[in-house]
Amino acid sequence: MQITSQTHDGSRKRRAVFALAGIFLIALVAVLIVTQTNVLAQQRHHLGEKFDRNHPWMNPKLSPDERAAMVLKELTLDEKIDLLHGMGMPNWPRDVQNPQPELANGGAGFVLGVPRLGIPYIQMSDAAYGVRSSGENGRYSTALPANIGAAASWDPDAACSYGRLIGKELRAQGYNMTLGGGTNITREPRNGRTFEYLGEDPILAGTLVGNLMKCEQAEHIIGDIKHYAVNDQENGRNEVNVIIGQRAMRESDLLAFEIGVGIADPGAVMCSYNAVNGDFACENKYLLTDVLKKEWAFKGFVVSDWGGTHSTVKASAAGLDNEEPLDEFFGAKLKDAVEAGKVSQAELDEHVRRVLRSEFATGIVDYPTQKGVVDVLGGLETARKIEESSAVLLKNEKDILPLKASSLKSIAIIGPHADEGMISGGGSAQVDAPGRPNAGWQAHVWFPTSPMKAVMAKAPDADVKFASGENIGQAASLAKKSDVAIVFVYCWMAEGMDLDTLTLPDKQDEIVEAVAKANPRTIVVVETGTAALMPWADKVNGILEAWYAGSDGANAVANILFGDVNPSAKLPMTFPKSDADVPHPTLVKPTQDQLGEAAVNKSGEAKPTFSVTYDEGLKVGYKWYDAEKKPVLFPFGHGLSYTTFAYSGLKVAPGKKVTDVSFTVKNTGSRDGAEIAQVYAALPASASEPPKRLIGWKKVWLKAGESKQIRVPIESKYLSIWDDATNEWRLVPGSYEILVGASSANRPLHDKFDLK
Ligand code: BGC
Repeated sequence: MQITSQTHDGSRKRRAVFALAGIFLIALVAVLIVTQTNVLAQQRHHLGEKFDRNHPWMNPKLSPDERAAMVLKELTLDEKIDLLHGMGMPNWPRDVQNPQPELANGGAGFVLGVPRLGIPYIQMSDAAYGVRSSGENGRYSTALPANIGAAASWDPDAACSYGRLIGKELRAQGYNMTLGGGTNITREPRNGRTFEYLGEDPILAGTLVGNLMKCEQAEHIIGDIKHYAVNDQENGRNEVNVIIGQRAMRESDLLAFEIGVGIADPGAVMCSYNAVNGDFACENKYLLTDVLKKEWAFKGFVVSDWGGTHSTVKASAAGLDNEEPLDEFFGAKLKDAVEAGKVSQAELDEHVRRVLRSEFATGIVDYPTQKGVVDVLGGLETARKIEESSAVLLKNEKDILPLKASSLKSIAIIGPHADEGMISGGGSAQVDAPGRPNAGWQAHVWFPTSPMKAVMAKAPDADVKFASGENIGQAASLAKKSDVAIVFVYCWMAEGMDLDTLTLPDKQDEIVEAVAKANPRTIVVVETGTAALMPWADKVNGILEAWYAGSDGANAVANILFGDVNPSAKLPMTFPKSDADVPHPTLVKPTQDQLGEAAVNKSGEAKPTFSVTYDEGLKVGYKWYDAEKKPVLFPFGHGLSYTTFAYSGLKVAPGKKVTDVSFTVKNTGSRDGAEIAQVYAALPASASEPPKRLIGWKKVWLKAGESKQIRVPIESKYLSIWDDATNEWRLVPGSYEILVGASSANRPLHDKFDLK
């Protein structure tokens, strides 16, 4: 009986278990069907529907603000939310979070549009020095010289052609938004992204990024300036809290953004991963609302760096408008927060209005993208010209340069890969080299622009031989046998890492030393994205900093080496003598348990886990070396030409808004050339500033023997200090000295004036 009853009991239990499992299965299937139906419904909605352009806001005569306001009134809550977050990244599997990969264009992200109202998708691509991921999308893009190189041209017009080319290639590849525009100033020269930025001076960096982005945006691309702000090292970038004084930040890092935003009026600003003084940049009210949107009157939208959003209500209130690349905080959670009244309708509408306004203002609504063919040859030419005005001649002794092909019987080309290519910068900035798609996040990509072939073309009668330098003895004996030795050295860098040292990797210093010892007629061409240490600098006669030289870098370098082009670039950053001389000789790195989401989320609310204190404050770059009286290898602003220039006749006319500085520059040599004449100011002692700051410059082209009077108007803000107490820029009364010359260390002209 017992057995029977047990059996009976057992089968009852089994039936109950089966019933429960059945219910669970049915529920699961139902959930899957509903989800899938939603996904499919959404797909049908977006794939099938035509962009309806027949609306009153399609009238381009109306202002972007009017047009945005009209569309805003028509949007449902879901459509509004759609505009405020990304839809995944390329190659992600189709799932609930990434329902429509076929709507993407292969870039870093995309935002849904509203087809029934004629509002397009925003297709974003990284595009620091060219359009990223072109190869893996079956396309081609030009690699321009790295941004740091473009900064070395000090030329707003060159910055404009840089931006214009990227804008055109973005559109040809089906994108309507760039994620370029890096403008973090170089506080830490070992920062792995230094090559994506524009050097250590805020006025130079801000002016150049402004011109670059203005021209890129003129191609009907939503422009972007990033990474706002003080994202000055890559180590622990998601977890670090940057501690920095307000005045230091306003006069340096933020000033670059302020100038850039003022010139370009960009459609977007990307907030950075790091926290600044306690709050993550993408939920930092001071940065996003008080400074960017209110004080600078930025009209576009704030887009988060990829995964840089940490909250819904706090981030929205702080001024974040668009979360990328997904909808973790600005999707369903934002909708819930609006419905629960935690985010007001007005706040939501303000985010949406900004996105719409940028779409109208930049023309992406009026000029839908049409894929086309990239102008490959035109791109190579632009890249070459920019490199020719970006490569800095650091040293030229015994007139070793320019080389005279007719007097050279033999040339040694030495250095890793110098026979086949030139290095480029990695991470999200990486442009695919032709035939090399999917290079990977941090791969060494050598562009097929061969220094050896370019030199052979210049000296067809010379015997040009190559040694990689792997065997140092062999390289030295080749140098010994040759009339001249050209050594190509490099240092690769990428996003997501910092250099431990500015020393060149792979025993390259030893190669140069050995070659220079074997042949005093040695020239070193440096391919780096930041400053490099050069313990051999005294032992070689020529040094050319070529940066990451881009698609046609080798021809540009050869044009300079052989004198077809007279170099005119100047350093946008100081080259120190040693790692020990930089403001923080040891990089602050996070420990293992300070890294990653787990650490960030320990307390429930996202919090940074370690901090870096920028106690050098205002003393960024040359301001540091000046103030600390540290001798440097090559100073900020330094760069030689094959001709010489003389400065005279300084006149300073102080004004309320603008101080006029004028002087004469004469080309005293026998070649035509360009000089970048620089104006610095030493503020009154009571201002407590570093010894001097760059306040203006002019790049001037002069024929041999020609002289020109130059006028450099200086905005009074550039002579001012940021006053934390009153929260504004202020001129300090006292004596100002204006210094003019060829570099921060060579200023033959000076004059003083008093401000009451
Ligand atoms: C980088 C951004 C980039 C984004 C999208 C992030 O990791 O910091 O600069 O635009 O990825 O690729």
